[in-house]
Amino acid sequence: MEDTISSIATAVGTSAINIIKVSGKEAITIVNKMFEGKNLTEMPPNTIHYGYIIDENKEKIDEVLVSIFKSPKTYTGEDIVEINCHGGIACANKILELTLTNGCRLAERGEFIKRAFLNGKKDLIEVESISDLINAQTEATRKMGIKGITGELTKMINELRKKLLSLIANIEVNIDYPEYEDAIIITSELLKNNIKEIKEELNKILKESEKGKIIKDGINIGIIGKPNVGKSSLLNKLIGTEKAIVTDIEGTTRDIIEGNIIINGITINLIDTAGIRETNDIVEKIGVDKSKQIIEEADLLIAIFDGSKKLTKEDKEILKELKNKKVIIIINKNDLKKEIEEEELKEYNIIHTSLINNEGTDEIIKRIEELFNLKEIETSDYTYLSNSRQIALIKQCVSLANEINESNEQNTPIDLIQIDIQKLWELLGEIIGVSYKEELLDEIFSKFCLGK
Ligand code: GDP
Repeated sequence: MEDTISSIATAVGTSAINIIKVSGKEAITIVNKMFEGKNLTEMPPNTIHYGYIIDENKEKIDEVLVSIFKSPKTYTGEDIVEINCHGGIACANKILELTLTNGCRLAERGEFIKRAFLNGKKDLIEVESISDLINAQTEATRKMGIKGITGELTKMINELRKKLLSLIANIEVNIDYPEYEDAIIITSELLKNNIKEIKEELNKILKESEKGKIIKDGINIGIIGKPNVGKSSLLNKLIGTEKAIVTDIEGTTRDIIEGNIIINGITINLIDTAGIRETNDIVEKIGVDKSKQIIEEADLLIAIFDGSKKLTKEDKEILKELKNKKVIIIINKNDLKKEIEEEELKEYNIIHTSLINNEGTDEIIKRIEELFNLKEIETSDYTYLSNSRQIALIKQCVSLANEINESNEQNTPIDLIQIDIQKLWELLGEIIGVSYKEELLDEIFSKFCLGK
């Protein structure tokens, strides 16, 4: 981290202002060399100065405001200068070029925030939350991102770590200084209670993180049914556009067509599938294979049947695909004479629709809300882990806590159990980035844009 780095922090294009960020030991002296105005090296931290950026021939390049921040109380922990110049590509590019000729190195993607992490200014949860906030598309994802940035998630993890640490310390005192009378003796019973409490908290975090994942990634819904039952019509009614072509020639919806709706701030990704019937048509077969994959991966399947026709072999094949899945069954074409043998679907809670008459879609939305507790998400406090790295680690923590509990019940000596408690403490530390692998950092920070 010896280099002083610089980058344009704003999106390139026509705008009111652009910001060029410089961070590192030489930040202030480098910008001072290209600044006409006050001597920046003599200015106090957290001050803003009006002046001009000039080139090596003292020619004025742009009129700017320069902010100065001094280490250690800065975003990266290093000296930082931010140059606010006029918008547009030419000014920002020229100023960036001058920072480089005066001694900066062009920052890599996410390098500012990486420095903030390495200098202990941000933990990994905060870093990942900043990325989530930048990419937030809905009010709910924004709320979740800001909870992470303000450290609420970190606090939650740290409190658990504190409990584990005090347990570890106590066990160590018991082992190393058995004669020490003031120390609490960690009996198997006491350990059981402690671990039970920690397990409950971990399970709660894991359960809540499912909400977090829904907020962040949305819910993927696959719409399935044989051709002509009304899949495209449903997608169109739900998203209110004509994205899917509605025709009455069987097999029209060959491609997978998608659309999004937002319910209570949650993105619902609707995917209209090509159906799953046997076919020799190569193009249709690709669609069918894709449909099978969607069925496999969807969070919810909406299966549609044509109420005006008897159930066919193909319908029954579809019903088989629904076993053990979250499903909504729709009997469509309610406006026509009923022919379907509804009793064969009696194990499901059926919704009747007439999509042509716009009937039944409200009930479908209501059912989706109920199935995923969307109303509850809307009123919740948004302190969730949501990122798959974090969730995977919490899952490992939960199973390790279960193992610790089992070992304790089998009367394993406490000094052996203590090794696993220590592991659990370390795993929780990985979530916030107390320990990490270099490749992990590369992966996380490369997802940021330049200038972040
Ligand atoms: P898909 O092949 O499953 O995507 O079905 P479409 O949405 O393309 O619909 C096939 C045909 O059924 C079209 O002619 C629609 O207008 C018609 N259709 C869709 N829903 C209804 C309905 O509720 N009632 C009636 N009578 N026809 C419908």
